[in-house]
Amino acid sequence: MRTDLKQEFIKRYGKEATETYFSPGRVNLIGEHIDYNGGLVMPCAITFGSYLLVSPNNDNVFRFKSLNFPEQAEVPMHTEHKKTGEVWYNYPVGVIAHFLNDGKELQGLDMLFYGDIPIGSGLSSSASIEVVTAFALNDLFTADYSRLDLVKLSQSVENKFIGVNCGIMDQFAVAFGEKNKALMLNCDTLDYQAVDSNLGDYLLAIINTNKPRKLAESKYNERVEECQTALAALKQELDINHLCDIDAETFKQYKYLITDSVVQGRAKHVVEENDRVKLAAKALSNNNLAEFGRLMYASHQSLRDLYEVSGVELDTVVDYCKTNPDVAGARMTGAGFGGCAIALVKRDAFDKFSKEVTGYYNDKIGYAPSVYASLIGDGVGILKETVKS
Ligand code: ADP
Ligand code: MG
Repeated sequence: MRTDLKQEFIKRYGKEATETYFSPGRVNLIGEHIDYNGGLVMPCAITFGSYLLVSPNNDNVFRFKSLNFPEQAEVPMHTEHKKTGEVWYNYPVGVIAHFLNDGKELQGLDMLFYGDIPIGSGLSSSASIEVVTAFALNDLFTADYSRLDLVKLSQSVENKFIGVNCGIMDQFAVAFGEKNKALMLNCDTLDYQAVDSNLGDYLLAIINTNKPRKLAESKYNERVEECQTALAALKQELDINHLCDIDAETFKQYKYLITDSVVQGRAKHVVEENDRVKLAAKALSNNNLAEFGRLMYASHQSLRDLYEVSGVELDTVVDYCKTNPDVAGARMTGAGFGGCAIALVKRDAFDKFSKEVTGYYNDKIGYAPSVYASLIGDGVGILKETVKS
C-alpha cells in the first residue's frame, strides 16, 4: 500500500512527475497448459500491479529507478541496446529499444517504477513492467501502436531481449484486462471474449507457495513434447492441427491411437481442460460461482493426476481449501511445480481463511505461504487521481 509515489518521484528527480501509469499482474482462472495446444485460456487482471511515474527530460537519456530494486541507471538514446546481466531495467530498456528500432521518435525520460505484485511468483510482474512501459511511451510520444501491437511488442521483448520463452497470454491479460471480466482467449488466433465475472460476495485469494519453481522449465518442455506425440498419434485418423480441435467425446473414441498411457493422460487433460474453460465461461456469466468452483477443483485434480505438474505444496493449499465451506473452489495456476494457487473465498471470511491456510500449510510444508486478497481489475492505463493502491 503506497500513497506517496508522487513524493518519492520528487525526492529522486527534484521535479514532479507529469504522468502516472498503472499496469496489473494477472492470474489464469482456468485453462492450464492449453496455450500451446490451440485451445482456450481464461486469465484476468488482478488488483495488484506496477506503477510508472514519468517526466520527460531534455538530456536525451532514459533514467531508471525502482522502489523495488536498488540498482538505478542512466541509458543514452540509441538503437544498439543489449541485455546487461540480470538487472531489472533490462525490461524497460528492451521496450525502448523496440520502439527505437521501429523508428519511433522518443524524448529522454525520467522514470520511477513501483510494483505491489509479488515479484517472481508467476503473477507476471515482468509482463506488467513491459506493458506499462510500452503503454507509457506510446501515450507520451504518440507512437501510434494499437493495444494489440503493444502486447506483441512486449512479448517479443520478453522472448528476444530478455530471453524468456513465454506465450502471449500474460501480456494480453495485462493489457486487455477489464474490471469484473475474465478474458477467454485463444492464444493462437488471438480471438477473445470478455466474460462477465461478477465475484459477488467472493474475492480471489492468491496463495503463493513460496516454493522456488526449479523443475518448471524442463518439465514444461517435456509436456510440450508429450502433447506433440499425442497429436501425431491422433492425426493418423483425425484431420486436426491441435489437440484442442477435438472435444472430450471425440477423444474417447480415438484415444486408443495413443498407445502410451502416460501420454494419453496428458492429452486427456488438455482436451477436458479446454472443455472446462467453455463451461467456466458459462458458469461465470450466469453468476454460478458454485459451478465455477467445481470446475476449478476439477482442473486442479486433472493437473495433479493426469498432467502431473502440481506438487505437494500446491496440493496442500487445495486440500485445505476443500475443508473450508467459505471456499467455492481452488486450483493451482500457472505452469505448476510451485508458484501460486488461487481460491474463490467469501469476502468476509478472508482473514480467517488466510490464517487457517497459513497454519495448515506451515504444519505440512515447514514454511509459510503468502496470501493475498484480489479482485478482477482493469488492464493497463493512465492513472488520473493521486496514486493509491
Ligand atoms: P514474474 O513475472 O513471475 O513476476 P519474472 O522473473 O518473469 O517473474 O519477472 C520478474 C522481474 O521483472 C524482476 O526480477 C524485475 O527484473 C522485473 N520487475 C518486476 N516488477 C518490477 C518493479 N516493480 N520494478 C522493477 N523491476 C521489476
Ligand atoms: Mg514473468
